[in-house]
Amino acid sequence: MVFAPDPAEDGPPPTGPADVPALQATDVAKRYPTGVEALRGVSLRIEAGGFLGLLGPNGAGKSTLISCITGLARPTAGSIEVFGHDALGHDPEARIAVGLAPQDINLDWFLTVEETLDFHGGYFGMPKRERRARTEELLEAFSLTDKRDQRTRTLSGGMKRRVVLARALMHRPRLLILDEPTAGVDVELRLELWHAVQQINAEGTAILLTTHYLEEAEQLCDRIAFIDGGRIVGEGTSAELAAAHGVETLEDAYLSLVGRHELSRQGGILGAATAAGLDPEELRRARAAGARDEAADGTGR
Ligand code: ADP
Repeated sequence: MVFAPDPAEDGPPPTGPADVPALQATDVAKRYPTGVEALRGVSLRIEAGGFLGLLGPNGAGKSTLISCITGLARPTAGSIEVFGHDALGHDPEARIAVGLAPQDINLDWFLTVEETLDFHGGYFGMPKRERRARTEELLEAFSLTDKRDQRTRTLSGGMKRRVVLARALMHRPRLLILDEPTAGVDVELRLELWHAVQQINAEGTAILLTTHYLEEAEQLCDRIAFIDGGRIVGEGTSAELAAAHGVETLEDAYLSLVGRHELSRQGGILGAATAAGLDPEELRRARAAGARDEAADGTGR
């Protein structure tokens, strides 16, 4: 149980009553000083132990929402609670409950792998003995033991990703935020990270994951929220979202959301062209001409 947020084998978990959600964001708005309205009334809930995927195009507001949850940005309006603790009111319980693996690999290049984990534990007030034991566990779990004395800048890209994830887990957060954890990683590492993330969730940690990979969201998350233009525009299981958009796949639901249904591999022009062995551009022109003729016929010319 390396990833269990509560190391105690017995006794009640520190999450309080079972119905207290891991995250409750209510009507969160964020207007940057530049005037950009990055969030326009976002409400989002993750149950304790739940796994929510947040999907949306670039600029939709995902990073801003994460910054608000983790105290890096202050919302203009709304409230955010983490396990019932006010995340906007400097409640240390809310900060301690969250672990963040950011999109950018923001390691201190002068620290070794072991120091990276140990310093992070110290930052969160873990006593030395506990830090040592936790560091050993995580080095082992992420196959980093033989790299413990290596400075982080000398690690491969994949190893750096693992350190970022191990560091996020160091203080045993009960809500883990993963911001595009597999962007640009190779197939092997992606599968390895998926496996770790599934295990972390199975051991009781709630997860908020942002990703551009629909397959990743479908594989890992029990619920998915679509964000666009600073608003949550759909939420549910993959099947619920597809049904809500009158399509069969999460991908088509997403394309419908962003207004690019023509890209659908099921019913869109690319799929139809591929199936017919045609050039999509030619098919598009032929269809457009057909539609014009039909419209002209409809006027009774
Ligand atoms: P995503 O993570 O979904 O790509 P972001 O939250 O990064 O979206 O961005 C949402 C909007 O807010 C975008 O229009 C972006 O340009 C803007 N934005 C993000 N960060 C800042 C900032 N620090 N100052 C001003 N505008 C910002």
